[in-house]
Amino acid sequence: MSWLPTLIKACYFLAALLFILGLKRMSSPRTARGGIVWAGYGMLLAVLATLFLPDMHNRGLIVAAVLVGVSAAWWSGKRVAMTAMPQMVALYNGMGGGAAAAIGAVELIGYARGLGLLHAVPDTSPLQPEAWAVNGLPPALSPTELALGVLGALIGAVSFSGSLVAFAKLQGWMDKRFVFPGQRAVNLLLLAAAVVAGVLLATSHASPALIAAFFALALLFGLMMTLPIGGADMPVVISLYNAFTGLAVSFEGFVLGNEAMIIAGMVVGAAGTLLTQLMAKAMNRSIGNVLFGGFGAAGGEAQAIEGAQKPVDASDAAVMMAYAERVVIVPGYGLAVAQAQHKVWEFAQLLIKRGVKVKFAIHPVAGRMPGHMNVLLAEAGVPYDLIADMDDINPEFPATDVALVIGANDVVNPLAKTDPASPIYGMPILDVSAAKHVIVIKRGRGTGFAGIENALFYADNTRMLYGDGQAAVGELVASLKDIDA
Ligand code: NDP
Repeated sequence: MSWLPTLIKACYFLAALLFILGLKRMSSPRTARGGIVWAGYGMLLAVLATLFLPDMHNRGLIVAAVLVGVSAAWWSGKRVAMTAMPQMVALYNGMGGGAAAAIGAVELIGYARGLGLLHAVPDTSPLQPEAWAVNGLPPALSPTELALGVLGALIGAVSFSGSLVAFAKLQGWMDKRFVFPGQRAVNLLLLAAAVVAGVLLATSHASPALIAAFFALALLFGLMMTLPIGGADMPVVISLYNAFTGLAVSFEGFVLGNEAMIIAGMVVGAAGTLLTQLMAKAMNRSIGNVLFGGFGAAGGEAQAIEGAQKPVDASDAAVMMAYAERVVIVPGYGLAVAQAQHKVWEFAQLLIKRGVKVKFAIHPVAGRMPGHMNVLLAEAGVPYDLIADMDDINPEFPATDVALVIGANDVVNPLAKTDPASPIYGMPILDVSAAKHVIVIKRGRGTGFAGIENALFYADNTRMLYGDGQAAVGELVASLKDIDA
C-alpha cells in the first residue's frame, strides 16, 4: 500500500484547509457557526487519517480513549449553560496543553530510555511501538526535535495547570486573586528553574529525576502564575493560554513529524497570539505586566465611596428613555446570565420607532469571553451598525441623554480610573458616568468578576432598576408600550 502515506498527507492537507477556512468563517458572527463545523470536520479527518499511519500502534487503545473523550465532551457540551461556556473553554484549552505536555513527556522518557537512563532492561512490553522493538528502544531524537519537544512540554504544562486555575476562578471555586508578599520573585524563580531544567534536558542530561523535576516546576509555575491574576487581567491570560496550547501542540507536532498537528497548532497559536495582543492593548497592559505585575498590585486602602444607591421603577425609567434624544445601551455579563438579549433588542426597536437614537456599547472584556456580548447581540439580530466599540463610543457619552447599563459592572466602574488600590486600576472603562442620566439594571448589590464596589452605582446621576435583566427589560418594554398606547 505505497499510496497510503500520500493519501494520509492529502487528508492532512485537506484538514489544514478546513481549519483555515473554518477560522476565516469564525471572523463574523453570521458565518461563525458554519466555521466551527468546518474546522470540526477538518479535525475528524485529521484524526481518522492518523489512525491509518503505517507505524501507528495500539489502535484499539486509541479508539477507546477517543470514544471516552468524545462521549464526555458530547455530554458536557450538550448540558453546559451558555453562561458556563467560558470555563468550559478554559478547561478544554487546558486539556490541549496537557495533551501536548504528555506527548513531550512520552518522548523525553523514550529519549532517556535510549540513553540507558531508564529501565536497565529494555522495555519490550506489548504496548511499545514496533519501531522500538528492534532493540526495545525508541528512535533517537535530533537535537532540534529534542529542543522543540522540551519547549512544547514546558509551554503545554504551563497552559495545562494555568488553565485549570482559570477554570476554577471562572467557575467561582477559587478566590479571584490569591496574593502573598514576594510572589513575583517566587514566580520568576520558578520559571527560571523550569527553564534551566528544560535546557539541561535538551542538552542530553535526560535523567528520570530531571524529567520529573522539569514537569513539576512547569506545572507549579502555571499554577502560581495564574493564582494572583484576577479582574481585568483574566481575559488576557485566558487568550494567552490559548496561544500557548497552540504553540505546544505545534512543537510536539514537529517532534512526531505530524503535519496536521503542526498546522492546527500554528493556526491556534497565531490566532491566540493576535487575540492576546488585542486584549492586552484594549486593557492597556503589557503581557509581562499581566504575568508578573497584577492589577492593583500596589495595594493600599480602597477608596471610600460616598452617597447611596437610588432606586427607580421601570415606568419612570421608560419615560426617561422614551423622551430622550440619544440612548446608549451597555450590556455586561448579567445580560448573558439573564439571557435578556432578545428583550433588549425589542426595547431598543420600540425606542428607535419613537425617533430615539440608540446605540449599543461593547467593552472588549464585557462578559466572560472575548466577543461574548457581540455573539449575544448578533443572536438577537441587533444590526452591526448600531454596535460601537469602547474607543468609538466613549467620546459620545457626554452627548448621551441616558446610558442604560444591563448587567455590566466592572467594565463601567470609574474606580478603574481613580483608585490606585483597586484590582482593576488602569483598565480602560466605558465612560457611562459622563452621560446625563444613567440607569443600571441588576438584581441587587452583587459585585462583578473583580469582586469590588462600583462608584457608578452611587453617582448623583445614576438610578438603579433592581431586578433580573430579562424581567426588568420586559417591564421597560411594557411601560414603553403603555406610553405609546
Ligand atoms: P461583571 O462580572 O463585572 O458584573 C456582572 C453584573 O451582572 C454583576 O454585578 C451582577 O450583579 C449582574 N447580574 C448577574 N446576573 C444578573 C441577572 N440575571 N440580571 C441582571 N444583572 C445580573 O460583568 P462585566 O461584563 O461588567 O465585566 C466582565 C468582568 O469579567 C471583567 O472584570 C473582566 O475582566 C472579567 N472577565 C472577562 C473575560 C472576557 O474574556 N470577557 C474573561 C474572564 C474574566 P447582581 O448580582 O447584583 O445582579
